[in-house]
Amino acid sequence: MMTKEKISSLHTLFLHELKHLYSGEEQLIEALPKMAKAASNDALTKAFQDHLEETKKQKERLDKAGSILGEDLSGKKCKGMEGLIAEGEGLIDADADADVQDAGLIAAAQKVEHYEMAGYGTALNYADLMGHDKVADLLNETLDEEKKADNKLNRIAMRSVNAKAEKA
Ligand code: FE
Ligand code: ZN
Ligand code: FE
Repeated sequence: MMTKEKISSLHTLFLHELKHLYSGEEQLIEALPKMAKAASNDALTKAFQDHLEETKKQKERLDKAGSILGEDLSGKKCKGMEGLIAEGEGLIDADADADVQDAGLIAAAQKVEHYEMAGYGTALNYADLMGHDKVADLLNETLDEEKKADNKLNRIAMRSVNAKAEKA
């Protein structure tokens, strides 16, 4: 029989969200090297590589948050992130023009960043509400990186990749 997950307080929901974020970062540590390898545009490859290094630190921040809260955040699988990554991998496997594929990789990656921004923004608000100040600082630091990663991808798309894709 499936045991139902008990989410009886905002704190339990907070931990649930943190576990999903943790799983997301873990999955991205596997996925970002593939995205970097698939990208043709140098700035895009570098953006993926740089965000991989940030993502490893983001996972460490969540480890820190877990130890502050006295909770193990590992062991959950975020299906939302799994789906978003599967869409990106579909593009990697497609028979596509290089510039068009780059445009698609950016689209997939920006969806990931927005998903993360939503998750971190929510968790940050819960942490603030419940006075988990140290955890809030860690979440805020990562939220900021996710926003910057999204902005960088947006700039690469708007300044070069999308226009090249349009000419393909
Ligand atoms: Fe992240
Ligand atoms: Zn999730
Ligand atoms: Fe990210």
